[in-house]
Amino acid sequence: MTETCSTLENNFDDIKHTTLSERGALREAARCLKCADAPCQKSCPTQLDIKYFITSIANKNYYGAAKAILSDNPLGLSCGMVCPTSDLCVGGCNLYASEEGPINIGGLQQFAVEVFKDMKIPQIRDPSLPALEQLPSSYHEKIALIGCGPASISCATFLARMGYSAITIFEKQKYIGGLSSSEIPQYRLPYEVIDFEIQLMRDLGVKVL
Ligand code: SF4
Repeated sequence: MTETCSTLENNFDDIKHTTLSERGALREAARCLKCADAPCQKSCPTQLDIKYFITSIANKNYYGAAKAILSDNPLGLSCGMVCPTSDLCVGGCNLYASEEGPINIGGLQQFAVEVFKDMKIPQIRDPSLPALEQLPSSYHEKIALIGCGPASISCATFLARMGYSAITIFEKQKYIGGLSSSEIPQYRLPYEVIDFEIQLMRDLGVKVL
């Protein structure tokens, strides 16, 4: 260690302080302008309907907020916790230059999905879609995905929602979750969060071997 380097031992300054209480989330959601063009949304790589889920939080409809988030992004909780939001949605927020600063979008996203996680509601296919038995045989062909990381989890979830019924993800490691499990420290992204998102995928019948 050189003299100019400070010790990093037990230094957790880089922990992202986004965890919001219900009171904090409601206050933050009320600040959102619900912009007509919603530049935050255009800056989101997953195209989340940010304005909608923030409005749902403001109305205390946390289930609706989480449903909107997870519908667009099956990894909505981990993204809420680790996305570099200042370069993405938050960076595009119209309140960026205001005195109070931009909306804490990642914190609101994390809040809504954590509330939903505690509801312990399994994922089901949209009941308005045709039942699996009514779908053509091509929907029941085997589909294999290699590696149980974020890309496969997301892909498998969207396919299963469409009605593909024989999806298997093959993982060579003893753990699942890919880079989210192996590279992101537990204090930034606890394994239980990855496990929650994988369980939602498994609710749709996706297998992991
Ligand atoms: S840009 Fe900011 S204020 Fe406008 S809708 Fe998005 S989060 Fe709300």
